[in-house]
Amino acid sequence: MAKKAPAAAKKAPAKHSKFVYSFGATQSEGNGSMKQLLGGKGANLADMASIGLPVPPGFTITTEACAKYYEIGEKNLQTLIAKEMDLALANLEKATGKTFGSGKNPLLVSVRSGAAVSMPGMMDTVLNLGLNPDTVSAMIERTQNPRFVWDSYRRFMQMFGSVVMGVDHHHFEYELSHLKKEVGVNLDNELTPQHLQLLVQRYEHVVKDATGKAFPICAMDQLRTGINAVFGSWNNPRANKYREMYDIRGLIGTAVNVQAMVFGNSGSNSATGVAFTRDPSTGDNKYFYGEYLINAQGEDVVAGIRTPQQITIAGSREWAKSQSISEQTRKTNYPALQESMPKVFKQLDAIRVTLEKHYKDMQDLEFTIEDGKLYMLQTRNGKRTAAAAVRIATDLVKEKLIDEKAAVLRVDPMSLDQLLHPVFIKSAEAKAQKLTVGLPASPGAATGQIVFSAHDAEAWVKLGKTVILVRIETSPEDLAGMDAAKGILTARGGMTSHAAVVARGMGKCCISGAGEAQIDYAKKQLTIGNVTLKQGDWLSLNGSTGVVYKGEVDTIEPKLTGPFAQIMQLSDKYRTLQVRTNADTPHDAQVAVNFGAEGIGLCRTEHMFFEEGRIITFRRLILVAETVKKLRTELAAANEKTKEEVEARLKAPLSQYMQALKELLPLQRKDFEGIFKALKGRPCTIRFLDPPLHEFLPQRDNPKGQKEMAKLLGVKVEQIERIVEDLHEFNPMLGHRGCRLGITYPEVTEMQARAVAEAAFKVKGSKAEIMIPLVGNVKELTLQKEIVLRTIAQVEKEKKTKLTISIGTMIEVPRAAMTADEIAAEADFFSFGTNDLTQMGCGFSRDDAGKFLGDYVAKGIYDYDPFQVLDQAGVGRLMKYAVENGRRIKPGMKMGICGEHGGEPKTIGFCHNIGLTYVSCSPYRVPIARLAAAQAALRAK
Ligand code: PEP
Ligand code: MG
Repeated sequence: MAKKAPAAAKKAPAKHSKFVYSFGATQSEGNGSMKQLLGGKGANLADMASIGLPVPPGFTITTEACAKYYEIGEKNLQTLIAKEMDLALANLEKATGKTFGSGKNPLLVSVRSGAAVSMPGMMDTVLNLGLNPDTVSAMIERTQNPRFVWDSYRRFMQMFGSVVMGVDHHHFEYELSHLKKEVGVNLDNELTPQHLQLLVQRYEHVVKDATGKAFPICAMDQLRTGINAVFGSWNNPRANKYREMYDIRGLIGTAVNVQAMVFGNSGSNSATGVAFTRDPSTGDNKYFYGEYLINAQGEDVVAGIRTPQQITIAGSREWAKSQSISEQTRKTNYPALQESMPKVFKQLDAIRVTLEKHYKDMQDLEFTIEDGKLYMLQTRNGKRTAAAAVRIATDLVKEKLIDEKAAVLRVDPMSLDQLLHPVFIKSAEAKAQKLTVGLPASPGAATGQIVFSAHDAEAWVKLGKTVILVRIETSPEDLAGMDAAKGILTARGGMTSHAAVVARGMGKCCISGAGEAQIDYAKKQLTIGNVTLKQGDWLSLNGSTGVVYKGEVDTIEPKLTGPFAQIMQLSDKYRTLQVRTNADTPHDAQVAVNFGAEGIGLCRTEHMFFEEGRIITFRRLILVAETVKKLRTELAAANEKTKEEVEARLKAPLSQYMQALKELLPLQRKDFEGIFKALKGRPCTIRFLDPPLHEFLPQRDNPKGQKEMAKLLGVKVEQIERIVEDLHEFNPMLGHRGCRLGITYPEVTEMQARAVAEAAFKVKGSKAEIMIPLVGNVKELTLQKEIVLRTIAQVEKEKKTKLTISIGTMIEVPRAAMTADEIAAEADFFSFGTNDLTQMGCGFSRDDAGKFLGDYVAKGIYDYDPFQVLDQAGVGRLMKYAVENGRRIKPGMKMGICGEHGGEPKTIGFCHNIGLTYVSCSPYRVPIARLAAAQAALRAK
């Protein structure tokens, strides 16, 4: 996907007089509520300083300054903030008793980014800024620790050189590893002061060679260019990608924090570390989770050069066990902070408690210990897995740090997806060979052997194999094979393609639109780049990220109890929207009910016709239906003379047509009975036949299928070819489908209505709702409703019973939305079919728009793919209009949504706000919808 437009294009508010805010022990100008202006880091540093925690003093240059940087350029920005910065720097010198860039006790600073929403590691940082030959000498004189000073200098050159001057960091790494080899040491901290001094000289050459410029020695120049570079890093590709991935919007830029350096690398009584107040992957609160390194600076902990040690003894023992390290070796070589610096540990542990109480959330901390003195460099709400998020939220309620409502708002609904599907074992996935990335159409993880047809998928699964179905795209014909497969990969199709919708409904892992995949059905092979896989080769799919891997990757099943169940209960307590599911089999209905669905909002009846043993009857129906239609038209135009002859010709096909319907009736009734039973009295909206009929036939590109069909039906293959031609449409999505089929073939509507009524009679307590699709004109509904009502009355008479079956319609044609008042007079309920309403409202083909919608989103024409996140401003407006005008005629009328958007949190918020009664989504989205509905209700209050 193309790069997003720079996020900092937004202008800073026109007039703002203050760009620099100081913080420190004596006073802080900012506070924790100023995240938008000072960034998360800046606001929390000010906050920590004001609650008395040991924070090195410094100042924050605001996010508004960052916006100015993009607006007026770096030179003008520096002029704009020069006075304020000089003053803040003077205050900093006063607070530390040091001078910047010169003197006997030089002040060094760190220059670090920090936006309002944390983006760990995405933007740039420079440490030890202010070092130059003069300050190096002064610091050596003062500390009598030349190793530390030279080490700090070479680190500074490395960071400044790459971040500010744009020198590829590999050049520095090359010099460092080359020197280590030359002098015969393994670790950085084994280098002597002389080695480090030599390294500094070599780095000077590296910089000169790469940039043609000397490394700057003026501290003020270093500071100004350092600040500019951090502002510039707001728009680096990494940061842009991160914001795109995590949907971070509306920020004007990053703040920059300039802070007095404290040194974790000033000797064996110094250290640096990072910690989480609770376990970020499980949410456990057994001990203090974190790592530290003695005599090191920040980046060393994450760089993986030296083995970091644990904070607590308990954590250290667990770590040693996982590494098969004996207790003795652990204690001597890798002691916990609790053992090596017990006093500092105690202080840090107390700070952990203070910070959790203060921020009422799990914190991610950075700290440094300089000569035995602890300093806090950062705190922020820690990133966590979904499992940890639900655990922490429910634990915090128990600990009375937050209330239930806050707990519900703490968990990202979409993240629950991680908990609902099998997932890859992390370590196994890390090792796997990535082939390509497609659309994450349906989450979960799947691993299996490749097959290229639905038929093979079924056959192989019957033999006990696990398969991945690989198709260019899928069609309803592939349903059984899709069901049999563990996962589905398609080369074409978007997030609402057939494969995506059906797979999500099944809760099956699916990657769609993997454009790099070349699929050759004839050779039964899949080629991605230079890798070619044959039928039977292993492939693995991560449906949550869209990544396709070569080979087998191990998976684990999720558990849905404990904190997850508690969050669901709390969600149910606070939501007002009902949550239903889109399901068309008893199995899917059961899965959804287990996830908390309150009924079915969309049962697509056509899927039932694809099952083995039925498709052939349905095809027989289609084969004669077209003839019946033509002859009926002829009959209508016939005169007295020809009438009899046309009637005679109609007789046989009509009787075959009625016979096929007769055969389909008990099958369909049985399906409904199964679903009603699974629902145990919950409502079930049954949507009558919707897709164009050609979807049920083997198409032109499938002569083999056409031959098989001809054989089974005992007709010539030419007849099949002819019907396929007859049913061909240039725009099938706008063609003969939905209620238009029922208008042409009223007997089909009648059969479906009878099946529903008879099943409702059989399964006592069932709540059937019949839904007519694709209505655009109230007269379509009136005609279909007449058939349904007449049929229900017949069944009532036959069974001597009274049935309560409501009759409603989908609102998925813009004309229906605009005439909702007329339609409401005829309908018991509305269900917004936002897939079609988006297709027809925006004029984007559901099947083809995937090819260009990525560009539309990248260019900001639409904020999101409108097939995934409802276009509230356009399609949403149609919905709002329909709700208001429908309810004007029928106050309190039941209205829901059953398009794919019904399981998308932002859309759910919108549905709550316009007053829908329920949302309906695929079974595996039900928990997400329950939580999103609760959040919408809480936010609306
Ligand atoms: C819709 O259009 O939103 C809908 C639910 O119907 P389908 O996806 O089956 O067309
Ligand atoms: Mg539709």
